[in-house]
Parts: sequence; C-alpha cells; structure tokens
Amino acid sequence: MKIGVLALQGDFAEHIAMLKQLNVETAEVRLPKHLDGLDGLIIPGGESTTIGKLAVAYDLMEPLKTFGQRHAVWGTCAGAIFISKDIGRDQPLLGLMDIKVERNAFGRQVDSFETDLDVPELKQATGTTKDYHAVFIRAPIIESVQGDTRILASIPDGRIVAAQQGNLLATSFHPELTSDTRFHEYFLSLVD
Ligand code: GLN
Repeated sequence: MKIGVLALQGDFAEHIAMLKQLNVETAEVRLPKHLDGLDGLIIPGGESTTIGKLAVAYDLMEPLKTFGQRHAVWGTCAGAIFISKDIGRDQPLLGLMDIKVERNAFGRQVDSFETDLDVPELKQATGTTKDYHAVFIRAPIIESVQGDTRILASIPDGRIVAAQQGNLLATSFHPELTSDTRFHEYFLSLVD
C-alpha cells in the first residue's frame, strides 16, 4: 500500500511521519504525476486558501478530483475544507465530499483547543476503548452532512468534527499532531 500526502503547504511532514510509523510506503504529492500508483491520499492542515491556490497553479485540481472519485482521501482541518462541496464562499474546492463546512468556526478568542472525543467507529475498528484526544487549530466545523455521509464525531455542543462518506474522510482536527495513530489506522482501513 502506498499513500500520498498533498505537500503543497501545511503539516504534510507530520502525516508522513505518522504513516512511516505504521510501516506504510509514502509519497509527497506536488504534481499530477505524483498521484500515479497511489492507493490513497491525505490532505493536511494548513491554510485552505493557499492549498487551493497552489493546487490551481500546479494543475492539480482535476487530477485530484479524479483521484478522489476512485480512491480513499482524507482531509484534516484545511484538508477537510478543501475536499468539501460547500463552504459558503468562493475559493478553490475539490467538491468531493457531501459536507458543508464553516472555516474558522471557533472564532478568534478560542482559536485553538484540545478535547477528548468519543468516536465509536474508531474504537470499534481499532479494538480500543479510549476516547480520542483531538487538537483543534483555527479549526473548521462540519456544519452539515448530506447524501450518504455519516457523522463520526461531534463535540459536546453538537457541532460535527468528523465525517465519512464511503472512502472519504474529513476531520476538523489534527490527528498528525498527536501520538495516537488510530485515526491513521482507520483511514488505512478505508483504502482498497
Ligand atoms: N483556518 C484554516 C483554513 O481556513 C485551517 C486551519 C488548519 O488547517 N489548522 O484553511
């Protein structure tokens, strides 16, 4: 199995380190040809406007859309924004996943926080019982999910922070910034 990480901007290096820890072959994706031979792709956190602009500049928009129609793709934070269908404003989006996302949903005062999440699917898939400690940095929320998208996790006030549609995964938080590899393992289980 070979997993690519979109390496235009943001914390792609941390995702690659996490995948290596799980003994997965990795590739940094900066050009369309780097998608060849990959089984799945992670789009990291960073700044979704910058990632979008660079993806347009490097002619990656169409190749990424085509890739996501056939393979597993996981967007974390800015990556979750980038794979969504709708964010209520104009910036380049892949539009792969039936979710509506609100950027910077926690505002300026509470830009960043950490919390424990109960993620039943994750616990079941990894045979564990511990809650998942999630790191939110100027995070988006998933305002709503459409179609056959399922909610995987919400924070106590009910706002959605993780969702899955087939082999597409979106998380508002940053699993690559913790030492808990369960979300990466969960994503790998979606790769076929
Ligand atoms: N606020 C960023 C955006 O809107 C996302 C932040 C992150 O990826 N940590 O793209």
